[in-house]
Amino acid sequence: MQGLLKSFVRATTGYVAAIVWAVLLFNSAFMVTALASTKNSDIKPSVNQAIQPIEIGEDWKSSLNFSMGYFVDTNESLSFQRVQQQKFIPSSNKLSLGTGAKTTWSKILLKNTSAQKKRLFLHHPYAYHNRLITLYEVEQGSLIREQVLDLDLAEDSPLMYRGSAIFEFELDIGQSKTLYVKGISFSHQWFTLLLLDENSSRRELIGTHNDIALMIGILLALIIYNFLIYFSSSKNENVFYSLYLISGGIWIALSYGLLANFFNIYGAGILPLHLSLIAMPMFLILFMMDIFETAEHYPIEHRFLQGTLLFLGLDFCYGLFDIVNALKPASSLAALMMLVTISVSISLVRKGHPFAKYFLFGHSLFVGFSTIAVLFYKGLIEFNYITSHGVGIGIMLEALMLAFIISYRIRMLEEIKSSQDELKLLAVTDSMTQLYNRRYFYTEANYQLKQAQKEATPLSLMILDIDRFKLVNDTHGHQTGDQVIIALANILRTHSQEGHLIARFGGEEFVILLPKTALLQAMDIAEQIRQTAEKHKVVLLDSDKPDLYFTVSVGVTEINTGSETMETALNLADIALYEAKNSGRNRVRMAPARLDFQKEEPLA
Ligand code: GH3
Ligand code: MG
Ligand code: MG
Repeated sequence: MQGLLKSFVRATTGYVAAIVWAVLLFNSAFMVTALASTKNSDIKPSVNQAIQPIEIGEDWKSSLNFSMGYFVDTNESLSFQRVQQQKFIPSSNKLSLGTGAKTTWSKILLKNTSAQKKRLFLHHPYAYHNRLITLYEVEQGSLIREQVLDLDLAEDSPLMYRGSAIFEFELDIGQSKTLYVKGISFSHQWFTLLLLDENSSRRELIGTHNDIALMIGILLALIIYNFLIYFSSSKNENVFYSLYLISGGIWIALSYGLLANFFNIYGAGILPLHLSLIAMPMFLILFMMDIFETAEHYPIEHRFLQGTLLFLGLDFCYGLFDIVNALKPASSLAALMMLVTISVSISLVRKGHPFAKYFLFGHSLFVGFSTIAVLFYKGLIEFNYITSHGVGIGIMLEALMLAFIISYRIRMLEEIKSSQDELKLLAVTDSMTQLYNRRYFYTEANYQLKQAQKEATPLSLMILDIDRFKLVNDTHGHQTGDQVIIALANILRTHSQEGHLIARFGGEEFVILLPKTALLQAMDIAEQIRQTAEKHKVVLLDSDKPDLYFTVSVGVTEINTGSETMETALNLADIALYEAKNSGRNRVRMAPARLDFQKEEPLA
């Protein structure tokens, strides 16, 4: 049943992957077509209605949605007089016309139907995208004003306020005017125009870009946090992630006018910052390589990522010299990057990588919103909040998902580390008593001997052996024998002080090394252990049998740290133990004076 379920899951993951793939392919095909089409007259269906004049009545405060007309000057050279004679396509006041509409004219008709003179403000909130914006004010067929805003000189212009261009004009009672706005963009033509009275104008300017500032704020927090994590963990993924966030943040700040807003910089001067658009996917790919360890575990996927990285890298280098031309293939590169990264993540999900699915989810959101954004910039879909903020929203969602993946990975690494720690502990302890084993004892004891030599502190050693233990085994069985061994181990633990090294040396034989402890003090501790053991009642598991008592014999020596090795010291303690056994058991004996020992036969 479980096997059936498993194979069903495996099969359906395949289908899901195939569907995601198909959607993606469709998406990219759609994007490529979008890239290919540049004729804007084909894109915007011309509406058969005329441009409606905006009536400025008594209670009028603002016009945020109104009818106007636009005309794309594909020659980019027509004079105002010539343009006036062109046919303007009726549209709304929010437009995205793509790369083929660099020079675009808008035409707005106005009529004051109120009983007073009106002061009006025309806002162009996305002016920072432009090279040049010109306002032409026409009254009864004649041009009465022409006002030019050159974005390269906009820092000091009274027409520019935090990224928005603002033109002020008046309408007498009953007066009609026609406004023409000419916008020359750097690359993509997208804009919106607003008409406001003085109060609404002021309010509009205060409220701009708060949402973008919030996005940047979140990104900044994530950036700082990840650099901090990097300082503690030294994991490259945190650096790549931070750099990804930084490029994304720069790009968001740039394309939504935050740089214009806060730092009052416009025009060609900030164009090189568009390199962030190429850098962002580069850092994302480096992040993927690092976090999925593609170089070590997924060679095919790794090669695809490397290839994409190479293309992006070349374009980035090119962009250092000529940013405008480097940005031309950016959309195609973005499509390639999305295709490769999504396919790689699908492949990793299918291969069972533990967090590839989260990455795929976050990245799909990014791809989805970026596709919307590309379609918007190309003038293929409507102007609204989501379409005009597509990349920003996509970056934010992906950034949050990647943050989740990083914390997930930290947890995984912690788990691996703690299981390694467990293994290490298993390797140095005895499983029955949880005391250290013989091997660990030697390593640690030799270190302690050196320390004692260096610090000239006393160091003592004792060996303990249960008396007549064979008898316990023979009478009560091996299991009871084990119980006695564990009982003694517990007694040793309760009598040990900080720094004492207790080990089970073999069968029912234990060793304790006592740093900073002289012979008499060690003898004292040994005696306490002996007495406690003697009094200790072992309650047998088999309740029918009477309780059991046992005794231990102990051999103690103080190590002559200047001349003796650990091996010699153990032999001496063993001699003392032998003495204790020979003189009737259940007693503590000290090692012989050193001179005597020299005469003794060496022990086997
Ligand atoms: P003595 O007083 O001279 O020490 O006598 P003894 O019977 O204790 O002699 P010895 O120390 O040589 O005996 C060790 C016995 O301990 C032999 C072996 O069967 C038993 N033994 C060794 N390891 C274990 C163990 O893990 N569990 C149990 N139940 N018995 C063990
Ligand atoms: Mg024994
Ligand atoms: Mg023994």
